[in-house]
Amino acid sequence: MNDMSVENKFAQYVAQTSPFPPSLRVARANGRWLFDETGRRYLDFISGIAVTNVGHCHPKLVQAVVDQATTYAHTMVYGEHIQQAQVELAEAIVSRAPASLNCVYFLTTGAEANDAALKMASKHTGRRRFVAFRRAYHGDTVGAMSCFGSGHFRDQFPGLTADVEFWEFGDAAVAGAIDESVAAVIVEPVQGEAGIVLPSEGFLQALRDACNRAGALLIFDEVQTGFGRTGEWFAAQTYGVTPDVITMAKGMGAGYPLAGLLAPRQMLYDFAAVPAFSHITTFGGHPVSCAAGLAGVRIIEEENLLQNCRDLGKWLLNELAVVAGEFAGVVTGVRGVGLMVGVEFASEPLARQVVDGCRGAGLILETTLLNEAVVRFSPALNVTMEECGFAIEQFRGVLAGITAETGSMAKPGTDESA
Ligand code: PMP
Repeated sequence: MNDMSVENKFAQYVAQTSPFPPSLRVARANGRWLFDETGRRYLDFISGIAVTNVGHCHPKLVQAVVDQATTYAHTMVYGEHIQQAQVELAEAIVSRAPASLNCVYFLTTGAEANDAALKMASKHTGRRRFVAFRRAYHGDTVGAMSCFGSGHFRDQFPGLTADVEFWEFGDAAVAGAIDESVAAVIVEPVQGEAGIVLPSEGFLQALRDACNRAGALLIFDEVQTGFGRTGEWFAAQTYGVTPDVITMAKGMGAGYPLAGLLAPRQMLYDFAAVPAFSHITTFGGHPVSCAAGLAGVRIIEEENLLQNCRDLGKWLLNELAVVAGEFAGVVTGVRGVGLMVGVEFASEPLARQVVDGCRGAGLILETTLLNEAVVRFSPALNVTMEECGFAIEQFRGVLAGITAETGSMAKPGTDESA
């Protein structure tokens, strides 16, 4: 038993979430690079799915974590003790957020944040119905899963889910369904797992107007889009629409587990403190995660990473559009905002082949959960132009190899094949 390989132990003792994990054996990570146990390096162009926004092991991030870990870690269930890093992070977030969102309720995961937002909306409005969108992903706890815009996943748990009506993302006709029975509309301003789908012009504002009319809350799930990913602190700012609640996670802890609600102070107070201890969570706002998150916010600011995100995001989109032209018929679409970019392929197996080929070429990419024909690009916000160049070069090379192998499937520069 003891001489089993780590790979075999991984398969045997660690529960898997799919039968086909990529099983990259990580030895260390630095900046935008992962290293396996043989010393081989891979350019990380997914950031643990939009988590490590300032890259791996940034010296200031490491220092903040070490300082906090050697001062104190957990001392009490969230909300009881005054912890400096938590207070400073809350202030830092509020001062960068839309003005009406002036308080943070700390949690640990994105799904938990969405659960809490749904509960809060229900308590705030006294209503029980929700509106969500097809191909939305909000997490896998019971409440969040209720708003999962995929029957393939959601319907495996019949009877567990709440009362949710699903609409097409971008369909302004949804406004007609947002009436006085609706507690909240929950929406990702940019749908991530659906395949990086951007909101159509005016769509988010139409939701805002309809929620205002109906007295329903508008919840932006910014678990993936928050903390700079779209080129502003929040997508709410990128699109100029302010929701009632923003749910946050992923990039919030810059690589450490951390989540939260960003909402008006009174709403959060009524939700969690009336009656006292209405919504408690042991590890919410863990001090080490908060120290990491605070370091992350400071690094983003000091290194001007929102600008870097906008600039290199634009560059990547342009370059990928050129690649799409070279492999027309194979690549069927390129879209994105900031450093949240998706490339759509003619088929799911083709996208999988590209992801696998790129890993072989030292570039980590991944498909999106609910549209596996889309390959996502979401590097750290401090990615460099040189690294973006490397990514494009490897991506193009892998596409050339695949199309040469499959010959007739696509001729670069033509769109007569698919
Ligand atoms: N919402 C969105 C938009 C997400 O992308 C994710 C994770 N991919 C979640 C919620 C769930 O977050 P967590 O895995 O931390 O529960």
